[in-house]
Amino acid sequence: MKKNLFSAAFIGVIAIFAALCVLTVFELVQNVSLSRRVDQMGGSSQSEEYRKIQSDLNHEKEANSQLQSQMGDLQKKYESLQSQLQDIQNMKLSQKSKVIYLTFDDGPSEYTASLLDALKQNQVNATFFVVGTNVDKFPDIVKREYAEGNAVGIHSWTHEYPYIYANQANFFADFNKLKDRLTDMLGVQPTICRFPGGSNNTVSMHYGDPHIMSQVVPQVTAMDIKYFDWNAYDGDADGKPETSAQVIAHVLAQVPHQKQSVVLCHDIKKTTVEAMPALIPQLKSMGYTFAVLNKDLNIPGAQFKPS
Ligand code: ZN
Repeated sequence: MKKNLFSAAFIGVIAIFAALCVLTVFELVQNVSLSRRVDQMGGSSQSEEYRKIQSDLNHEKEANSQLQSQMGDLQKKYESLQSQLQDIQNMKLSQKSKVIYLTFDDGPSEYTASLLDALKQNQVNATFFVVGTNVDKFPDIVKREYAEGNAVGIHSWTHEYPYIYANQANFFADFNKLKDRLTDMLGVQPTICRFPGGSNNTVSMHYGDPHIMSQVVPQVTAMDIKYFDWNAYDGDADGKPETSAQVIAHVLAQVPHQKQSVVLCHDIKKTTVEAMPALIPQLKSMGYTFAVLNKDLNIPGAQFKPS
């Protein structure tokens, strides 16, 4: 009886143990399968998210390149509008009955600062065709000329006719030296110039190639630099010393002959500079307005034909 009971208990224990084993194995199998599914689910949701991010990125890239192309278009439109605006401003200037372009050659000099004061005081601007050796002596004055709204153009580095007009190589070595110096100094390349002696000077014929002007003028124009001569003159470089009163009389006698006057003056002449504080208000009271030269202006009589 006892033996039977023990056997039954033993079998029961074995059965319970076996059942526990089966359950454990079953649970293990289920866990593995679940964890696989979870992994699979996790993996697939991760790759979905990855795909979504990649697709978002692609969209962003597309939008970026579209924006860049739109920006390029806008930049082109802006440049075209700017050029139209310049045309309109030039047209307005030419429609106004009387415009004066005061131009000062050969400086800067010790007198130029007081000339700039006079321009500022009268709220007008002028154009300076500078000489390189003087630019080196008065760099701050050149910077001030430009900073205060005046135009700064190329005249010559040396202004020595025998050197610059001996041949084209000399001419362009001198010209480009000043162009580069002004570009460095002002941060923009000059777009206007005045040939020493004017574009039709005959003095150049004595120093080498007699046709040098007809050779250098088109080359300078091809550099997108416009040359200006003059159609009025203050008489300050005729050899005889002009008093300020004579300078004023000279200008007043010349400017009524054209709607737009490009007046040749020299800011290395003391009496010329001293004439300006009286001359400018007088011209203003006569209805003249003042402007600076730019490469888009076409002024009758202000571009001679090279000889
Ligand atoms: Zn000169």
